[in-house]
Amino acid sequence: MVKKGRVFSGARPTGRQHLGNYLGAIKNYVTLQDDYDCVYSIVDLHALTTLEDTAHLREWTYEMALDWLAAGMDPGRGTIVFVQSHVPQVTELHTILSMVTPLGKLTRLPTFKEKVREQPDNVNYGLVGYPVLMCADITLYKANAVPVGVDQASHLEFTREIVRTFNHHFGPVLVEPQAVYTETPRVLGIDGVNKMSKSLDNHIEIASSPEEIYERVRMMVTDPQRQRRGDPGRPEVCNVFSLHQVFTPQETVQQIDSDCRTAGIGCVDCKKMFAKNLADYFAPFRERRARLAENPDEVWEVLHRGAEKAGVIASQVIDEVKGAVGLP
Ligand code: SF4
Repeated sequence: MVKKGRVFSGARPTGRQHLGNYLGAIKNYVTLQDDYDCVYSIVDLHALTTLEDTAHLREWTYEMALDWLAAGMDPGRGTIVFVQSHVPQVTELHTILSMVTPLGKLTRLPTFKEKVREQPDNVNYGLVGYPVLMCADITLYKANAVPVGVDQASHLEFTREIVRTFNHHFGPVLVEPQAVYTETPRVLGIDGVNKMSKSLDNHIEIASSPEEIYERVRMMVTDPQRQRRGDPGRPEVCNVFSLHQVFTPQETVQQIDSDCRTAGIGCVDCKKMFAKNLADYFAPFRERRARLAENPDEVWEVLHRGAEKAGVIASQVIDEVKGAVGLP
C-alpha cells in the first residue's frame, strides 16, 4: 500500500507510560503506521533541559521503549523507533537552524515563559533553543507530517516558520511539515482534577498488573456530591465515567449512566467494573511487554537498529543542508 508520507513524533523519556500517554499519543502512533512511514524518537537530549531527569535517563528510556514496542509501534512494519542522541546529526542541524532563528521570538514563546516560571533557578540555554532542536528533530528526517492535537498546532507552526526562513535563504532543502490532527483527549488523573501526570502521582501505568490497576482505580475521585451509596450521581462530572466511555462497551456505558443517576449502582462496584475492563484491555499488551522484558539487550538492539536506519536519512539530509549553507 502506498503511504501518504513520513510522520515524525518524539517524546521525552519518562519511564513507564500512563493512561494519559497512551490515549494522548501512543494509540495514535500505532494507528498512523497504517498510512505513513513512521519515525518515532525518544528525545533524551530534550530531557537534559530539566536536570533532575538525567539520573533516570537510561532506565526511563528503556521502560518507555518497552511500552512503545509492546503497544504496537512495530519496526517489523518499517517503523523507525530510536533514541534521539544516537543520531548525533540532530545537534549539527540544531546549530545550523539556530542561526536563522531570531532570539526574541524564542524568548517570547509561551512555552519558554512557562518553563522559566517552573524552574526559575535553571533557565538554561537549552530551554531557549528547545523549539529549534524540535525543528531539527522533524526536518532531519524529512518528515512531511507531524501528529498534533488541535491545541498544539502553534508548536508546529514555529517549526514551519524556521523551515520557511531556512529555505528562503538557502534554497528548498528542508521539508515544511504539515499537521496531522489526531485526537488527544485531556485525560484526568485519579484526583479527577489535574491532567494525568507522573509528577503529580495521579497516574495509572498501562503496564500495571490487574491488582495494581484496581488499587489505583479504587483511589479515583468520583462525583463529589455523591457522599452515600443511596445518593444519585452525576456521571457527567465523574472521571471514572469518562474512562468507562473509552474502555467499556457502549451498552454497558449507557446502563451505568442511568444506574448512577438513580443510585442503582454504587461507586465501589462501578470502579470494580472499570478496573476489570481496563485490565482486560491491556492484557495482550502486558503479555507482549513481559516477553520483551525477558531480553533487555534485544530491546536496546531494536533501538540501535532504529538509530542506524534513522542515521542513513539523517546523513543525507545533513549533507544537503551543509552544502546549501556553503559549509566546505
Ligand atoms: S457510580 Fe460510577 S459513574 Fe457514578 S459517580 Fe460513582 S463511579 Fe462515577
